[in-house]
Amino acid sequence: MSSIDTLIDADTIARRVKELGAQITADHAGRDLVLVPVLNGSFVFAADLARAIELPLAIDFFGCRSYEGTASSGVVQTTLDLSHPIQGKHVIVVEDIVDTGLTMTYMLENLRTRRPASVQLASLLSKPARRKVDVAIDYLGFEIEDVFVVGYGLDFDEHYRNVPYLGVLRS
Ligand code: 5GP
Repeated sequence: MSSIDTLIDADTIARRVKELGAQITADHAGRDLVLVPVLNGSFVFAADLARAIELPLAIDFFGCRSYEGTASSGVVQTTLDLSHPIQGKHVIVVEDIVDTGLTMTYMLENLRTRRPASVQLASLLSKPARRKVDVAIDYLGFEIEDVFVVGYGLDFDEHYRNVPYLGVLRS
């Protein structure tokens, strides 16, 4: 773990996630709510966020990734689909990071075709400097510079997902 410089420490993340949970609790009281974490990177954030929301809710996972070599084309492959219909439900997609915005654009369009009552986006991180398409983030944890981050669910080559804070690999 010593090869990682801390970007956002665990206490700061925990405080922010609690705030996002309180906001979602206030906004969605009385609604039929479904959290849709996007695998793999958002699993830690989603687990903490879900427990910070003081409402009944369902959780249904979605998996997608950009096609190899065509990341900038916006061609996204679904690797795991939802297991239940979302028609008439209030959906919050839970993402680790919005970078170019291409993955979320695909994902949100895909979910809207299923006629949910609403679709919102909760993202732990956003890198606005890298954006190629505009994506509205309803619940944002932190805006960061254009650096490659790991930890708190985010990986480099499938490693570092279990690091309990957000950091940058030391070169
Ligand atoms: P986008 O389609 O917005 O460019 O890509 C979003 C996806 O790229 C994220 O879900 C994440 O998997 C990956 N990604 C973008 N930036 C980073 C980063 O700084 N660190 C890690 N680990 N993954 C990133």
